[in-house]
Amino acid sequence: MSLYEELVTLLPRERVRRDEPMSRHTSFKVGGNADVFCEPSCAEELARALKAAKQAGAPFTVIGNGSNLLVRDGGIRGLVIRLGDSFSAISVHGQELSVQAGAALAKLAAAAQEHALTGLEFASGIPGTVGGGLFMNAGAYDGSLSDVCTGARLLKLDTMEEAVFSASELRLGYRSSVLQQGDLICLEAFFRLEKGDAAAIRAKMDELNRRRREKQPLNYPSAGSTFKRPQGHFAGALIQQAGLKGLTVGGAQVSEKHAGFIINLGGATARDIIELIEKVKAQVYETSGVMLEPEVRITGEG
Ligand SMILES: Cc1cc2nc3c(=O)[nH]c(=O)nc-3n(C[C@H](O)[C@H](O)[C@H](O)COP(=O)(O)OP(=O)(O)OC[C@H]3O[C@@H](n4cnc5c(N)ncnc54)[C@H](O)[C@@H]3O)c2cc1C
Repeated sequence: MSLYEELVTLLPRERVRRDEPMSRHTSFKVGGNADVFCEPSCAEELARALKAAKQAGAPFTVIGNGSNLLVRDGGIRGLVIRLGDSFSAISVHGQELSVQAGAALAKLAAAAQEHALTGLEFASGIPGTVGGGLFMNAGAYDGSLSDVCTGARLLKLDTMEEAVFSASELRLGYRSSVLQQGDLICLEAFFRLEKGDAAAIRAKMDELNRRRREKQPLNYPSAGSTFKRPQGHFAGALIQQAGLKGLTVGGAQVSEKHAGFIINLGGATARDIIELIEKVKAQVYETSGVMLEPEVRITGEG
């Protein structure tokens, strides 16, 4: 029995797909097919899917909203497991929140605002999930998840056991976490927020999102900032100083609006984007001596 045939006996059929275009699941809107794709709705379904992939000897990749993901044009072999809307419960107990990995950061920030809890306003415009957010220690406007996360329930892939990691065990640093080791899946995360004023929280979120719309090319597909912020510099400024705004390879372009973003003008391939990333790195290094490091995670086959 193929992995696909096995999975449709283990998960509701509508949650399992074959040859699924990853362009449908990445904010860049590029990427070849995943051999098999599924969207579990609970930890038990996730465990079943992982067990089936392991038994079939198939590799697997866990994704959230694909908003920091560049999938190469040859697609992803094995199984892609998306933890999204179907895995997104949010519970609020006083100042503590427990949130499933697939919850959108925007929905989490909105839930906090509704409960007059402050500390997650910065996350309301980040288009990722809690799992992908923790993987990256997502942040903006001087805030990051590490400021408010108290721990997470992770699945250890070597033993297939769940364990609660404390905030320090998550090793949340600038766009980094213990999840980047590659043998852990985030199932749920825990946050502690401060009591605040619902109207003031709403106003702050509105203001940050207004600044985002003003500065960022949100009308084009992208993965946000393409590069990490190098120590003592801003990637966008270095790219602009190197005269690279508007530089284009195929359908990929260094945004005219914000040089830190590579955008898909329409019809870009992953190859276009990767070639543009390499050009930008080389030219920024030549003009400033700074080697940029991509923030966007590149995966799949070329
Ligand atoms: C317009 C735009 C604006 C953005 N602005 C910001 C910003 O201000 N700040 C910021 O930090 N980022 C920003 N980003 C990037 C992106 O939204 C964040 O990095 C986000 O945290 C990624 O979450 P995701 O769910 O989309 O993860 P994905 O892109 O799906 O995955 C990212 C990585 O996390 C892994 N992963 C996902 N879920 C899990 C899980 N449950 N367990 C283990 N590993 C997992 C994946 O394998 C992958 O390696 C922006 C992106 C866009 C498109």
